[in-house]
Amino acid sequence: MSIEKKIRKAVLDAPAYHLKTEEGIKLNQNESPWDIPVHLKTEIIEKLLQTPWNRYPLGDIVPLKKKLAKLLNLWPDNLVFANGSNVLIQAIIMACAVNDKIMVLDPTFSVYELQGQLLGNTIIKYPLDENFEFDRDALIATVKKQKPKVLFIANPNAPTGNLYNLNMMRAIVEECPCLVVVDEAYYPFSGTTVINWVRQYDNLIVLRTFSKAFAMGGVRFGYLAADADIATQIEKCLLPFCISKLTAACVDTVLDHPEYVENYTSDICKERDRVVEEMKNIPGITVYPTKANFVLFKCEDSQTVFRRVLNEGVILRDVSNPTTLAKTLRVSIGTKEENNAFLSALKKAI
Ligand code: PMP
Repeated sequence: MSIEKKIRKAVLDAPAYHLKTEEGIKLNQNESPWDIPVHLKTEIIEKLLQTPWNRYPLGDIVPLKKKLAKLLNLWPDNLVFANGSNVLIQAIIMACAVNDKIMVLDPTFSVYELQGQLLGNTIIKYPLDENFEFDRDALIATVKKQKPKVLFIANPNAPTGNLYNLNMMRAIVEECPCLVVVDEAYYPFSGTTVINWVRQYDNLIVLRTFSKAFAMGGVRFGYLAADADIATQIEKCLLPFCISKLTAACVDTVLDHPEYVENYTSDICKERDRVVEEMKNIPGITVYPTKANFVLFKCEDSQTVFRRVLNEGVILRDVSNPTTLAKTLRVSIGTKEENNAFLSALKKAI
């Protein structure tokens, strides 16, 4: 029997999410360059020693939701937890759009489109202008005309790094007759959030992750905040027990220690602004404004630049595509030393 007879067409047509493992300074996945502090790891391990691993994580999630909800000034019922916000993107689409329509900005984070396609949806791509901005009223008019079930907006956007302002976001949430997912993966670096609006708008879903500012990409934890009725329905689309006791112990511990996140974030933001300024002085590249922990830039022959920088031991992300992101590369902000290595490799490559 051929593969076409065994596997759905939407799956066969979808590209795989591949990332090559290269050796070098890793500035290609917007991770934190620092691990979580060792004393917190010790605290987590001590908690895990007290926890029975043979039991399913039944009682672990409710207190954790209470704790996080209190910090966010929301109710526990507003929150859904998963092993990464990618998983929540899938659950949201599964809950509201199968063989239907979803809408994304173009360019944006690829997983919305990928998961949308896997579930048989048509993807409406709303093209951003050359500064990755859009006309608010035109976007709302497109939503009204096309009637997608869900609109995804990453804010700051990825891989572009720009931030859409709160007036813009409020108009979109108020006027779009669909679910609006605001993906705040990079929120700690921008300081701009709409999370408190979930008490007001029942079509708003805010996505967050612990993979970036919280330095826990390897642990896998993300959450969403939404109207309680919406949250309940989306939770049904997750598999039972997707948060392990190990993850719960990590999250529980780091929530008591926001200071390391604040320190890391403020160091990254300072370094980001320094790197951007230095990059602006390099002839032949265009640097885009960013409020995230990465910088997008454009240069002639970006593939050669990518390879030359790699030969100098620094791994970038080639995010280019011929239509909306021609000749662009993305660099994550690392430690001061890593960023200096990147800057000198880039100068040499150019
Ligand atoms: N949203 C955006 C905008 C991202 O850039 C990422 C990570 N690349 C995610 C979501 C997924 O994060 P997680 O590690 O929580 O699955």
